[in-house]
Amino acid sequence: MFESLKPQPADKILMLMQTFRDDPRADKIDLGVGVYKNAEGLTPVMRAVKAAERRLVDEQTTKTYVGLLGDPAYCDAMTDLVLGDAVPKASVAAAATPGGTGAVRQAFELIRYGNPAARVFVSDPTWPNHTSILNYLKIPIVPYRYFDAESGGVDFNGMLEDISQARPGDVILLHGCCHNPTGANLNKVEWQAVIASMLKTGALPMVDLAYQGFGDGLEEDAEATRMVAAAMPETLIAASCSKNFGIYRERTGLLMAVSADSAKTPLTRDTLAFLNRQNYSFPPDHGARVVTMILTDPELRADWAKELEETRLSMLNLRQQLADELQRLTGSDRFAFLAQHRGMFSRLGASAEKVEQLRAEHGIYMVGDSRMNIAGLNSKTVPILARAIADAGI
Ligand code: PMP
Repeated sequence: MFESLKPQPADKILMLMQTFRDDPRADKIDLGVGVYKNAEGLTPVMRAVKAAERRLVDEQTTKTYVGLLGDPAYCDAMTDLVLGDAVPKASVAAAATPGGTGAVRQAFELIRYGNPAARVFVSDPTWPNHTSILNYLKIPIVPYRYFDAESGGVDFNGMLEDISQARPGDVILLHGCCHNPTGANLNKVEWQAVIASMLKTGALPMVDLAYQGFGDGLEEDAEATRMVAAAMPETLIAASCSKNFGIYRERTGLLMAVSADSAKTPLTRDTLAFLNRQNYSFPPDHGARVVTMILTDPELRADWAKELEETRLSMLNLRQQLADELQRLTGSDRFAFLAQHRGMFSRLGASAEKVEQLRAEHGIYMVGDSRMNIAGLNSKTVPILARAIADAGI
């Protein structure tokens, strides 16, 4: 059988990481990979995570299985973090998953299981794993216009026009904050218009929330997700702890299925448990336990929130520096969108040729669609990048 396997297309970002590693230039700059890096280029373990892990080693008395939905205390603590008091607790069915990707996958599984006719509307562009998993599960995809390359913002009229084509039961996949790969986000009024459209068409929202705390703040970044969950009859939410707790490899995520009719919650919860069982049985526990300890211990939580806030502000600072430097060098405001974008990523809006030119001539690595990881910069490399962008005539 193995001889009949088809080679899969190589992951472009992983390939880029390898080319970067092989590049002998000492002054090369990595803006490709999607992890947070501090000014020293490191992805440190957060202080609160270290403290919680130490405590866990001392206090944990068993490694026996947890439930199929994960530790209920984790589901509660994360539901609180994401939804606050936007919806009654009884209306949320939640399942721990291996990372945000696991939550996305299980949400798609639930969609396919619950409504095999559903199509999933995705932003153009979106995180490539969305389309890859949808294709793998043979769920039809409908792209909706999203990024306006001219302004670096959202083509909101295009988006609204496209999502208004949804049929009842179709799913609209939305990025809760810090859109990946563009960095361009909806404002509150636009979110309200998207909600009104979904209420009109009968589409079901699925919110992917992978960067809570990386954009405008922990509460602010959850605001859109909360508005959607409070307004819609049903909402799916895939949350990731990879970035905001810096626990990427621990694979810690949560899928929430919210229903305005809380009588539906027990059956939905049982279905999430069933779907976990089919794919991997019990979800990973270590990261989830660390997150729960941090969120429920006031001291650890305060320290975590402080470090997360420093992380967020450092990225905002780099954005502003880059936008200012480009303004100075080009004498135009056309890169002002970089300071407006939120999260780790910004799409520069450069052609694939220019992206390649930056790599070949300056050792600057960004993804082929000109997605840059802002956290890959520091105060020394911002002027180098700005000069290279200006010289390349982007
Ligand atoms: N959704 C989006 C939009 C993402 O960017 C990511 C992280 N790259 C994820 C989900 C999931 O990440 P993880 O599985 O590492 O938690």
